[in-house]
Amino acid sequence: MFCRSFLFFITIFSFFTAFTQTTIARPKLVVGVVVDQMRWDFLYRYYDRYAENGGFKRLINQGFSCENTFIPYTPTVTGAGHASIYTGSVPAINGVTGNLWWDNQLNKSVYCTEDTTVKTVSGSASTAGQQSPRNLLVTTIADELRLATNFRSKTIGIAIKDRGGILATGHSANAAYWYDPKIGEWITSNYYMNELPVWVKNLNAKKFVDKYYQQGWNTLYPIATYLQSSADDKIYEAKPLGKSFPYDLKQFAGKNYNAILSTPHGNSFTIDMAKEALEAEGLGTDNHTDLLAISFSSPDYIGHTFGPNSIEQEDDFLRLDKDLGEFLDYLDAKVGKGQYLFFLSADHGVAHVPQFLEEHKIPAGKVNVTALEETMNAQLKQKFGGDNLIVSMYNYQVHLNNGAIDNLKLDRTAIRKWVVDHLSKQTFISHAFELEKLSETTINAKVKGMLANGYYPKRSGDIQFLFLPQWIESYGNTGTTHGLWNPYDSHIPLLFYGWNITKGKTHREIHMTDIAPTLAALLHIQMPNGSVGNVILEVVNK
Ligand code: ZN
Ligand code: ZN
Repeated sequence: MFCRSFLFFITIFSFFTAFTQTTIARPKLVVGVVVDQMRWDFLYRYYDRYAENGGFKRLINQGFSCENTFIPYTPTVTGAGHASIYTGSVPAINGVTGNLWWDNQLNKSVYCTEDTTVKTVSGSASTAGQQSPRNLLVTTIADELRLATNFRSKTIGIAIKDRGGILATGHSANAAYWYDPKIGEWITSNYYMNELPVWVKNLNAKKFVDKYYQQGWNTLYPIATYLQSSADDKIYEAKPLGKSFPYDLKQFAGKNYNAILSTPHGNSFTIDMAKEALEAEGLGTDNHTDLLAISFSSPDYIGHTFGPNSIEQEDDFLRLDKDLGEFLDYLDAKVGKGQYLFFLSADHGVAHVPQFLEEHKIPAGKVNVTALEETMNAQLKQKFGGDNLIVSMYNYQVHLNNGAIDNLKLDRTAIRKWVVDHLSKQTFISHAFELEKLSETTINAKVKGMLANGYYPKRSGDIQFLFLPQWIESYGNTGTTHGLWNPYDSHIPLLFYGWNITKGKTHREIHMTDIAPTLAALLHIQMPNGSVGNVILEVVNK
């Protein structure tokens, strides 16, 4: 009798709990992955070569893919990209107008995460750790997660590049770690902590970089199968690792900790660190959702060095695919399949190497912006008087030395007009205009919107210039870059996978700024305080 009424009670109880949610459903862990310099088409360019148990096919076929995701601002560079993904905002609001910008009030150039008030925390006296999120003007989704759970959620950022982890996790992060290529170790700053945790010290003591160097770098598959890429020995590839495959990396062991950056080992080394962080810090083990932000920096180094049509980049992505597949298996085992919310995107894409396009009759070219600046400064001096009236040409903008111009009682308006006229005459420049006059400039509406989203007056220049498509800023005979509005720089992958994500895809136009509000909706937390994005309804509506 007792038994039967007890069973009845249990049944009724289960019935009610099934229909009334007593707690907010959240994943145990959010894992954000940014692949530095991953153009959207890389998902499909190498699709047939990706492994069945790798990462990309699993994310595409079991997750939700936003196929037409664009960066809604310029310049399309790393600092701005990581900030925008995690803040749901744009440089005009979050203040990260580039990797580097000229600060009008400080009257000097500023690196996006530089902070001279903090100290490096590492085993060396290097200044590589003098970094923090203080130049970021708004909160990130990681900050909002911390606020939402009264700081019971843990958030950690990991990337070889300092800005990749720092700008992702934001102000209230438990930690951000980055790589010091002088010593080959993971470091941080006293913004976060006064001493490296024992687990980081232990990992550093294992000298993983030297171990990776012992493995060298040969192609994953026979080199003759790399039919999606140019031949291996093009003259427009830089050669920091040696002449060609197989690269002997042993020569760098104990000496050069920079070399790992432009090899796929940089990705594996980042995953080593992420796994250690997850286990040592107990991420995803309790009821409070934690966040792990990982950025893979090596694809960007490899892309700049060898170009997106190189065997090096194809091999890098095939190896990253395998690393991601193993990492997803690891998360399934440690956190539980379906227990973590995973997303993957990129901070920007990349232009093809101009000489490669020219080989195939596609218009392209290179501009030495520093030489252009020197020529213009010399001509400005001749015409108006005053040295170095242009102080910087960062981020495709001319920054005038307005203080000096006023002190010398020069005509600001005439100088600006001269600069615009001079730039407009260059065959490789499609548009040049004063940024304050952006709204009255006749230019394509989408491009205008992107420029406005990138304009924060205290950290932006006076005059904007745009190159013809496929023209890049370049200072040598090798490699390529990114930074402008064009689709090769601004069309990025965006994939959601895991907790509460139903498989599917959309070709609707979505923006990088939509990622953070979508995560906020999935997690039932407030969106970041500078967010201008929209919730991606296809992702949240199950
Ligand atoms: Zn980047
Ligand atoms: Zn780059």
